[in-house]
Amino acid sequence: MKIARPGSPLLLLGSLCASLLGGAQTDPRAEIANLRQHTHPAFTRIVLDIGTLREYTSGELRDPDRVYVDVLQAKLNPILQNQSYPCQAGYISQVRISQKTPSTVRVVADVDFAKVLSYRVYPLFDPFRLVIDIHPVDRAGVHGGADPSGNIPSAKPSGLPPDPAPSGYSMARQLGLGVRTIVIDPGHGGPKPGTIGKSGLQEKTINLDVALALQKLLRDKAGLEAVLTRETDIDVPLENRTVIANQKRADLFVSIHTNAHRDRNRGGVESFYLNISPDPEVNRLAALENATSTKNIGEMKGIIQKIVQNSKIQESRDLADKIQRNLVKSLAKDLPGIQSLGVKGGPFWVLIGGEMPSVLVEISHLSNAREEEKLKTRKYRELAAEGIYDGIMEYIRSLGKG
Ligand SMILES: [Zn+2]
Repeated sequence: MKIARPGSPLLLLGSLCASLLGGAQTDPRAEIANLRQHTHPAFTRIVLDIGTLREYTSGELRDPDRVYVDVLQAKLNPILQNQSYPCQAGYISQVRISQKTPSTVRVVADVDFAKVLSYRVYPLFDPFRLVIDIHPVDRAGVHGGADPSGNIPSAKPSGLPPDPAPSGYSMARQLGLGVRTIVIDPGHGGPKPGTIGKSGLQEKTINLDVALALQKLLRDKAGLEAVLTRETDIDVPLENRTVIANQKRADLFVSIHTNAHRDRNRGGVESFYLNISPDPEVNRLAALENATSTKNIGEMKGIIQKIVQNSKIQESRDLADKIQRNLVKSLAKDLPGIQSLGVKGGPFWVLIGGEMPSVLVEISHLSNAREEEKLKTRKYRELAAEGIYDGIMEYIRSLGKG
């Protein structure tokens, strides 16, 4: 098995240059108010809530092994000063945070590089936060951890993406058992309604309804495990949605959305997988779905490019393709002639950090009067769920054919 580990191209040592606003603040430092950390058998995600765009550097240090991130022009909430958070994982013992210099805050994860497969550091915006993902070598308990020769830490890094088998994620597939667990992500929720139709109909409501119907189909008709990132009208941060998918060791991740466009004549269905895009329309939509500015989409370009190199892009595209085709076919039963706008790559942040084929579907346009009328109805939402279901099942069947 090829193993990529720190030092390999998998590693994203992000350095984001920020042109800061020349505001007349008394203290130019951004206050870091919160550090969130989720440790799961599959990986650890550390999120630093910063709020204001800041430059940062990251890297690794040895003896003892640690990954660090320095946030510049930042001050730590005094409550967090010198705090440490223990982790219940063999590859990471604790996360620490401190004010390293008067203007630099350092976060350190104490790790065992022999047990770390890869890590990456990337920002998310609005509000600005830094995410540190650390993936262990041994996630499924399949392999006993380190190479018996003990030379893993000194082995030459591999440029290949991690082999999915030992990670446990696609184990069922590797064994020819197909897909078992699907995470469905109804976009937006709570105080974030998503796009709103002329009638006042909110995207979050449609997304949840379709997701619940899809969950029922996957459970009842196919006997698959289907987990929702939210089952009620609550807000779940984008970065937590893939945490749920990774935690559940999902084989597939499908995020459900409803589109909006300033041209109210535009309508139809489109599906996306994670990639950068030269198309300003795609970037506009991604900014909308990410709840950020198109400028911040631009800032993420290099980071997404690196993540895409190591993600399941072909499988995601394949899944998107099958969902798109079946969804259009199903919706056309109630809305003949509904347009297929195709399958595209796009910088959708909710697709970052998922370790399984991941797709974002825009089922129809809430900004289009004809489609809004349909989106109000139970029948059309059921047809949307059926179409996505058919696409997922076609994808699963295609795996069996190898
Ligand atoms: Zn949306």
